[in-house]
Amino acid sequence: MSGPSGVGKTSVVEGLSQRIPFHFSVSMTTRPARPHEVDGVDYHFVSPQRFARAVDDGELAEWASYGGNLYGTPVSELKRRSDGHDVLLDIEMVGARAIKDAHPDAIMIFIAPPSLADLERRLRARGDTTDEDVSRRLAVADDQMREAATLFDHIVVNEDLGAAIDRVTDILRDVPDRPDPS
Ligand code: 5GP
Repeated sequence: MSGPSGVGKTSVVEGLSQRIPFHFSVSMTTRPARPHEVDGVDYHFVSPQRFARAVDDGELAEWASYGGNLYGTPVSELKRRSDGHDVLLDIEMVGARAIKDAHPDAIMIFIAPPSLADLERRLRARGDTTDEDVSRRLAVADDQMREAATLFDHIVVNEDLGAAIDRVTDILRDVPDRPDPS
């Protein structure tokens, strides 16, 4: 799952977790934790040095720089598939493309805001993002939305959170059983 930051992906993931079973892939990041975030649950918050070591040691299935911070998916999170879990990743576009290349059977869902103006409102309402960060994230979002149509199987507009959760639930329930990835 991808989508501009502030679009409500975290809320969609929370809503989904009440409806269908999956393992949420906990990424590694050099971004500082926001006040409500828990290390090991929302992200593994690490230093740039620790992140560089993870890259060197091949611990990350993909990684990317976003908004001045580094984010990556630990290989160990994807391995949960061999325990029979569906794994849900919340990642930006460069990472999403890398995952699609490595796992062509991945279901690609883009969560879009109704408009950029709406996204700006949500980012400002969050209250934990500086003006500079808001501008940077809006510019990235604009690019992402242009690119989304080429990479994603489904684009879900998050105008109403409940409806967006329903839509993603339906998409995932419609996925036919796939062969054991191990
Ligand atoms: P935020 O700082 O708002 O939590 O996340 C910023 C962006 O990083 C979001 O678009 C999110 O999807 C993305 N992101 C989070 N984890 C990963 C990851 O492991 N890999 C990649 N490529 N992007 C990630």
